[in-house]
Amino acid sequence: MRLTELKLPLDHTPDHLRAAIIKRLGIAPDELLDFQIYRRSVDARKSSAIILTYTLDVTLKNEQAVASRLQGTPHIAQTPDTRYHFVTQAPAISATPAQKQLRPVVVGTGPCGLFAGLLLAQMGFRPLILERGKSVRERTQDTWKLWRQGILNPESNVQFGEGGAGTFSDGKLYSQIRDPEYRSRKVLTEFIKAGAPEEILYVAKPHIGTFRLVSVVENMRASIEALGGEIRFQSHMTDIQIEQGQVRGLLLANGEHIAADHVILAVGHSARDTFYQLHARGVFLEAKPFSIGVRIEHPQSLIDQVRYGKAAGHPVLGAADYKLVHHAKNARSAYSFCMCPGGTVVAAASEPGRLVTNGMSQYSRNERNANSAIVVGITPADYSGGPLAGIEYQRHWESIAFVTGGSNYYAPAQRVGDFLAQRPSTVLGEVHPSYTPGIHLTDLSLCLPEFVITTLREALPAFGKQIRGFAMEDALMTGVETRTSSPVRITRNEHYQSMNTRGLFPAGEGAGYAGGILSAAIDGIKVAEAVALSLTQT
Ligand SMILES: Cc1cc2nc3c(=O)[nH]c(=O)nc-3n(C[C@H](O)[C@H](O)[C@H](O)COP(=O)(O)OP(=O)(O)OC[C@H]3O[C@@H](n4cnc5c(N)ncnc54)[C@H](O)[C@@H]3O)c2cc1C
Repeated sequence: MRLTELKLPLDHTPDHLRAAIIKRLGIAPDELLDFQIYRRSVDARKSSAIILTYTLDVTLKNEQAVASRLQGTPHIAQTPDTRYHFVTQAPAISATPAQKQLRPVVVGTGPCGLFAGLLLAQMGFRPLILERGKSVRERTQDTWKLWRQGILNPESNVQFGEGGAGTFSDGKLYSQIRDPEYRSRKVLTEFIKAGAPEEILYVAKPHIGTFRLVSVVENMRASIEALGGEIRFQSHMTDIQIEQGQVRGLLLANGEHIAADHVILAVGHSARDTFYQLHARGVFLEAKPFSIGVRIEHPQSLIDQVRYGKAAGHPVLGAADYKLVHHAKNARSAYSFCMCPGGTVVAAASEPGRLVTNGMSQYSRNERNANSAIVVGITPADYSGGPLAGIEYQRHWESIAFVTGGSNYYAPAQRVGDFLAQRPSTVLGEVHPSYTPGIHLTDLSLCLPEFVITTLREALPAFGKQIRGFAMEDALMTGVETRTSSPVRITRNEHYQSMNTRGLFPAGEGAGYAGGILSAAIDGIKVAEAVALSLTQT
């Protein structure tokens, strides 16, 4: 049976929880055989009386009898089936000689490509998965070279390589999409099988942390391979072969041609060269809105105090997060994005001579600073040009940030007090930057469009009213944050295929259909289902 809305104060033991279940059901203690937490959320609206709200699945001795006695009682019901069900299975090899059917190809091993590949493998389709970057361990070394020595490898970095853009991240796993098929539970369950902490299945705001993500990604690769899938690294797709509106194959940077009639394109938002190449081949794509701005850092203790008061530092609560939005007088909105409690600001560039910030945390979230992007939405109306103009707009500001930082991947940075007073920063205050290889104190208004600066100048004091101290003089901003989402959409039809190219299944963040690890993974599952159905119906 499922119990919902069971509320307990922050400080309670498992025995208190057990007692609360027994009381709610009106049963004898020995009738409760077992219980599992389905969901646990934190209500911190009153920091002096923080409450945990549980949804629980209980196993009882006399379940039928209790169920009929409590029928119609609010917040007690039969446990629904929340398992994910496969849409189809590949025909047995004897029924369809494998050599006659081309393998489905997945391009990209970010969360979208990995889950598309895993699902296809689990359904028996033995996918071939191509990744331009290196395996996650090798890639980690290349990424550290940028962070420690300011040396960027354009094919192996925070954006490119096994695990995709989310590998060096906080690993936040929340999404607000409707999910009647329980695909998000499938994603979380697979992450747990691959080594993620079990709590991600029930805490309201789960996260994995970058260190654990590395082995999770490796274990998922092993599962795909064990099921007959194949993953090839340093396999950069550089062209697509289309004949009469149907995909026929792919070309790799090493000159290899791969015949394919079902291609899942899960290349992420930073595959700019790939967007250009698809456009050149006539694949339909269009410009879409995204956001740009800065990363801001505060002492994590400040955020914890404001959110949790005396309970700050409680192990169940962990490091506090926040979500902020301000609608400015100029009709723009500024909002916080990808908040990383107890984390670090990271260099997330993938192109030489351009600078991009982002944020990550370890599972423990115990670094000194809280960081978050504070960004302003822009639309294709803000820049002129065709479907790819948003890419050039991002490039423009990333190049300026690179030069302003000193042309060595140091990030331009400014204290909030100086930013609001419209003067360049020359000294740091209480907040020390976590960004490496280093920062250069300057005037951030040099690195962003005027309307973004105006909106941020209005938003920061407004945020200071929602989180006391947010606009503190010494809070530190680094820039620029440009890769909030894809600047293009590779538009698809109701069969998840490109509007004008059959057999091409654009997916995930790069195609404009996801924004975050969980939603990208779910989109990967949806597209794998569409490919599987197409393969079994043809
Ligand atoms: C530093 C950082 C922190 C983040 N933190 C979070 C977080 O905490 N929570 C969250 O939900 N989201 C976070 N995100 C966003 C999240 O990572 C993305 O939304 C998600 O990874 C998108 O998944 P994807 O599979 O669509 O694309 P990606 O993860 O970008 O994967 C695309 C893959 O395709 C490969 N590729 C590209 N072009 C080609 C080609 N031509 N040939 C072969 N391979 C190619 C790339 O190398 C890459 O591995 C973060 C992002 C960054 C950069």
